[in-house]
Formats: sequence, structure tokens, C-alpha cells
Amino acid sequence: RRPAVLIGLIGEGVTPSLTPPMHELEGARHGMSYVYRTVDLSRGQGTEEHVRSLFDAARRLGFTGLNITHPIKQTAIGLLDELSENARRVGAVNTVVFEGDRTVGHNTDITGFAEAFADELDDVARDAVVLVGAGGAGSAVATALRGLGVGELIIVDQDAERADALARTVAARTSGGAIRAASLDDLPALLARVDGVVNATPLGMAAHPGTAFDVSLLHERLFVVDIVYRPVETALLAAARARGCRVMSGLGMAMHQAADAFEIFTQEPADRRAMLADLENL
Ligand code: NAD
Repeated sequence: RRPAVLIGLIGEGVTPSLTPPMHELEGARHGMSYVYRTVDLSRGQGTEEHVRSLFDAARRLGFTGLNITHPIKQTAIGLLDELSENARRVGAVNTVVFEGDRTVGHNTDITGFAEAFADELDDVARDAVVLVGAGGAGSAVATALRGLGVGELIIVDQDAERADALARTVAARTSGGAIRAASLDDLPALLARVDGVVNATPLGMAAHPGTAFDVSLLHERLFVVDIVYRPVETALLAAARARGCRVMSGLGMAMHQAADAFEIFTQEPADRRAMLADLENL
């Protein structure tokens, strides 16, 4: 009989996440006893000390691994024995596996975004791309975009220092085209000349309605990616579609990050098409 798989998701506000059912449904397709539980952190519980105690408890309780999210993706780095190349590059981890007495960190947000882009926008021009949002997800997206061969990556954020810091970090840790920060005021000029724009701000979610920038700046030669996936059709994507832009929603990234983590946890190939269908129906 195969050993049961026990996974946890640790972070703030994780209770409604769709990642647990995505994993459990895929586990069931593999005939596994696969249990995925959420551990919701309250404010102030994102300290290294607290996360260490959760990791120790998870290991003792026989967890196979963990997904971790806001606000501990960076905090956890110091608690790991080993990091995948990707996790080291971005300085953040979203997947942790207990391998014997070693704790190993991976980042499937980066691979998830890259795989979704390869599925949906593989053929688009990418000489210059604007990324709006330099938070946790934005840093994974910036790393992925560099790996996807973007010639010039321009990062903007309402917090100018954060955009600047991300541009410097990604430039130092990855190789590829030019990368720099710009201000929100530069967007009209930038969007008039670049090939694509990616939203990695929370704008477009039910709790953050609207768009991060004025959609009248969109035009049909731009590809538009929104990594927000609840709802799938954000105000930004709707406006982009109406202008005839190539678009990519956040669903593919959400599915691939889960599928990559599933494969890391189980060493078995995930049925990505089925996982996407599940996600669309959840
Ligand atoms: P975060 O809070 O770490 O970062 C958000 C960033 O956006 C911040 O730097 C903030 O200053 C900036 N920002 C907010 N409003 C802005 C505006 N109007 N203009 C410019 N910048 C603005 O959040 P995060 O963890 O990076 O996640 C961002 C969103 O990405 C989430 O809300 C979620 O919807 C989405 N997400 C999707 C996936 C997926 O798999 N599809 C994965 C992770 C996150």
C-alpha cells in the first residue's frame, strides 16, 4: 500500500485557497490517500521563530511537505537546508519538502508562470514588457519573464522603492535582457511602445476592484496578462479583450504552480489538463 501524502498550506488568509482541492483531486486520480490542510496565520505569526516551530511540528507529524505563501515566502529561506536554483534566484520559496532530515525549498510560482506563458503566449513578441506590481508574486513573474527571453523588462509599482529593489535583485540574480524600474507616470509612454503588460498587483480581485492603471492605455498590439485569477475575468482582461489584445488569465499560473508542487511532493506526473478543468469548476 502506498504511503499517504500529507501536505499543508501555511500563510495569512489561506483558508479559502483553491490549491488544497486542486491537490486532493489530483491525488485521488493517482489513487493516493492525499490530504491537504490549511494553516492560517494570524498577524504577527510570520516570524522566523514561529515558522520554525510550524516546520518542526509538520515534520514531527509526518507531513510530506508544505506550500507556503504570504507573508513567509522569504522568511522561510533561512530555515531550509537546501534551495532549488529557482528559489535561490528569487530569494523566495513557496514549496517545502521534508526529505529525510533535510528540508528543501522550491519556487513553483516561477515555473508556474513560465509554463502558463509557454502554453498560451509562446509566439508573442517580447522585446519589451512592463510588469506592474513588485510584491511577492511580481518577483516570481519578473524572474520568469527574464528566463522567457524578454529583451527589456520594466517594473513599476506604486511603491517606487519596491520596484527599484526588485529590478536590482532580479538583475543581479538572473541573466538576460535589460531590466529597470520606472514610475507609474511613465506608463502612458511605456505602454505605447512595449509588446506586453503583466498585472501582478491585487487590483481586479473582488476585495480590490478596478485596475492598477488606466485601461484606455491598452491597444491591440499589446499582450495583456493578469495573474489575478479570482475572478478569472478581471476588469483589466475584459478591457484588453474588448480592444482585441492577446490575453492570458491567472488560471494557468495557478494550475501549473500546483501541478509542479504536486510533482515535487509525489514524484508522479500531474495531469495538468485535468487540474485546469478542476480549477475552472471549483
Ligand atoms: P503583494 O501584496 O506582495 O504585492 C502587490 C504589489 O502591488 C505591491 O508591491 C503593491 O505596492 C503593488 N500595488 C498595489 N496596487 C498597485 C497599483 N494600483 N499600482 C501599482 N502597484 C500596485 O501581493 P502578491 O503576493 O505579490 O500578489 C499579488 C496578486 O497576485 C494577488 O492578489 C493574487 O491575486 C495574484 N497571484 C496569483 C497567482 C497565480 O497563481 N495566478 C499567484 C500568486 C499571486
